[in-house]
Amino acid sequence: MSIQIEVVPAFCVALVAVIRMRTLDRVEEAGETNTGSGLPSVQALRNSTDLSARILVALKIRNYGGIIGSFAEHVEAQLAKEIVRRIRISDESVLIYHEGGMFVWLSSIRSSFDLFENLEGLHRIVQNGIQVGGIDIDLSFNCGIDSEFDRALSSRVASAMQAAEEAVRSDELVCQHDGRKQEAQWEISLLTSLDRAIDNGEVWVAYQPKLDLRSNRITGAEALVRWTHPDRGPIGPDKFIRIAEEFHRIERITRFVINDAVRVAVELERSGYEMTMSVNISAQLLRNAGLPGMISEILAVHGLSPNRLILEITETDRLDRSSRTFQMLQRLVQSGLRLSIDDFGTGNATIDYLRYLPASEVKIDKTFVSSMEGSKEDLLLVQSIIEMAHSLDRVVVAEGVETAQALELLENLGCDLVQGYHVSRPVPFRDFLSFVSGRRARLIG
Ligand code: C2E
Ligand code: CA
Ligand code: CA
Repeated sequence: MSIQIEVVPAFCVALVAVIRMRTLDRVEEAGETNTGSGLPSVQALRNSTDLSARILVALKIRNYGGIIGSFAEHVEAQLAKEIVRRIRISDESVLIYHEGGMFVWLSSIRSSFDLFENLEGLHRIVQNGIQVGGIDIDLSFNCGIDSEFDRALSSRVASAMQAAEEAVRSDELVCQHDGRKQEAQWEISLLTSLDRAIDNGEVWVAYQPKLDLRSNRITGAEALVRWTHPDRGPIGPDKFIRIAEEFHRIERITRFVINDAVRVAVELERSGYEMTMSVNISAQLLRNAGLPGMISEILAVHGLSPNRLILEITETDRLDRSSRTFQMLQRLVQSGLRLSIDDFGTGNATIDYLRYLPASEVKIDKTFVSSMEGSKEDLLLVQSIIEMAHSLDRVVVAEGVETAQALELLENLGCDLVQGYHVSRPVPFRDFLSFVSGRRARLIG
C-alpha cells in the first residue's frame, strides 16, 4: 500500500504538522528525550559543553512535517526507528538525537570523504522509500556536517543544522560547516563534475615522449591525464586523481586513459612508429580483480599487442609474494603486459623489492634527477639505482630531465631512457605526432 502525501489537502497537513511540531518542541525544551520518537533529544547535545573529535552530522528530512502530520502519532516513532536503523547500517552503533525533521549524531566515520560516500549510500537506500506499518513513505533528506573539533558540541549542533538548511537551499546532498569548508565543498563539487567531464571532453590525455639515449630516438610515450575545467581552468592530476581514488572513480578514469593511449599507439603504428605506451595505474586499482580483463578488452578492440603497453605502478608498501597485489602483478605480466616501477627511490623499495617484482623497467623519481646536478648524494643515488637495475636486467628511465647537462650526465651514467621538459612537455597527441615526425625528418635529413 502506497499513500501519497498529496492526497491530504495541503493546508490540513501543514496545520497538523505545525501543531505537532510545536508540541514536540515544547516537550523537547523540557526534557532530554524526544517524546514523539523516543530518541534522545537534540537539546541534550545543546546542553553539552563537551568537545568531541568526531564529525557531527545533522540529517534533515525535507518533508518530515508533512509526513508525520498525515499519519497517526505512533507512526513517528516507527519511522524514526526505521531511519535510525538505516543510518546505523554504515555508521554502526551511533547514538542518534532527534528534533522535528532533524536527526543528529556524532559519526564513527573519521574521514569526511568516507562519510560523504556513506551519506550518498544512505540517500540511495532511503530513496527507495521506507515501509512503516505497511505504508510506503517517500523520504528525501539533506545533510550538514561540522568538523570543528575544538568547539563545544552546543555550538557545533547549530553549525551542523545550519549547514543542513544550506544543503536544502542549494539542493546539495551534503554541506560542510567548518574552516575547511571551501576546500571540502570544492572537492565534493569536483567529484560530481568529474563523471560529466569525462563524457564531454574536458578530460583528455597528454603524451610525453621517452627518449632512448642510445639510438637518440623517441621510442615511447607516457599518457598523462588532464582536466581542463570550463570555469576553473586546468586542474592537475595530483589534485583530482587522489579524490577519484578516494571516491572509487579511478577505474573510470583509467579506462578512459588506457583507451585513448591504446588508440593513439595504433595510430602511431600506422604512421610507422613502433612505440611503447605507458599508463599510470593506481595501487588501489591493483586490488581490483577486473583490471586484467578491462585492459585485454581495450587491447582487443584496437588491436594492439600487450607487450607495447607498460603499466607504471607506484606501490611502495612492502609487497609480500603471497599478497593479492603481487599475484595481480604476476597475472598482468603473464598476459604479456610490461610493468614499470614509478617514482623509484621515494618509497621503501629496496634491491630485494626490485629483484622479485616482475617489472621490466624502473623510473628514477624526478626529485633525484632534478637535484643530482647540485647534490653529490643524489648523483650517487641515481648512479647506484642505474647500476642496481642493470644488474637485474631492468631498463632504466630517468624522469624530470629539464636540462642538457642532466641529459649528458645520465648518458654518461648509462641510463637507457629519459623523459622530461628538456625533451618535451606532455602535449596533446596531435602535437606529439608533429614532434616525433619533425625529429624523424631532421634525423633523416
Ligand atoms: P608521474 O607518473 O610521476 O608523472 C610524471 C609527472 O612529472 C607528470 O606530472 C609530468 O607532467 C611531470 N613532468 C614531466 N617532465 C617533467 C620535468 O622535466 N620536470 C618536472 N618538474 N616535472 C615533469 P603530472 O602530469 O602533473 O602528473 C602527476 C601525477 O599524477 C603523475 O606522476 C601520476 O602519478 C599521476 N597521474 C597522471 N595521469 C594519471 C593517470 O592517468 N592515472 C593515474 N592513476 N595517475 C595519473
Ligand atoms: Ca608515471
Ligand atoms: Ca614519477
